[in-house]
Amino acid sequence: MQVKLLHDLVEEMAGLNTGRIVDILFGKKDVNEFLIAKKMELTINQVRNILYKLSADGLVSFIRKKDKRKGWYIYYWTLKTEKCLVKLEQALIKKIENLNGVLGSRETRRFYVCKPCGIEVGEEKALEHGFSCEECAEVYELSDNSGPIRDTKAKVTRTEKELELIRGELETIREKDRKKRVRSDKKSEKEDAAKKVILKAARATARKNVAIVKAKAEGKKKKEIVKKKVVKKKVVKKKVVKKKVVKKKVVKKKVVKKKVVKKKVVKKKTSFASRLKKKLSRKK
Ligand SMILES: [Zn+2]
Repeated sequence: MQVKLLHDLVEEMAGLNTGRIVDILFGKKDVNEFLIAKKMELTINQVRNILYKLSADGLVSFIRKKDKRKGWYIYYWTLKTEKCLVKLEQALIKKIENLNGVLGSRETRRFYVCKPCGIEVGEEKALEHGFSCEECAEVYELSDNSGPIRDTKAKVTRTEKELELIRGELETIREKDRKKRVRSDKKSEKEDAAKKVILKAARATARKNVAIVKAKAEGKKKKEIVKKKVVKKKVVKKKVVKKKVVKKKVVKKKVVKKKVVKKKVVKKKTSFASRLKKKLSRKK
């Protein structure tokens, strides 16, 4: 990993001497901000300022937890390596573009220099001032572009190498993520299959229950019809008998409920009749 490049990136984003934070965060997860402050020998607010700047660009992320004893929140920080690398990639592309711009102008244009002042100007500006220095009036000399061309070319080559490294690392990270995703996809596929089996069973049970409820409801209707009949018969009987019959009927209902409707009706009628007979005979 190009930790040095991450250093530079962080310093560019958050200021001088902030790059050290990369060494503390790199390869770790959820680092306590007080630990960062201690290692960097900075105050907690200085550390937070750095981290807020970096988080504005998504280079770090945080979670917060409430400190149970002190009652305030502590932030835990994680370096977002991929985001950093993408940012670096963009920065390096831009840098190469700029260098190529410089190279192009060094290769095609003239530059003039005032040696005593060490100031270099482009041809247009030199012309504007009659080829003499704006500051000291010394006559400009034509710059030798070969040095800057050589330097710029070297810089372009170096930066292109860095870009290649960063892209390689990005590719590695993305490949890892892809594999991770495939694994979790397979896992969730398995889980989905298991869920389907459970759901199927649950649906079958639900259908059975619905059927039972329906059967019960139908049973109730028939019972109600039976009840009406019973009431009519009851009216003929003495009041004392009626009460007893009602009580027994309630008990019977509970037991009979679960049984098949047809049988129940038949049973009820016969049992009721026999009960009635018994009762009447007892009464007599
Ligand atoms: Zn000068």
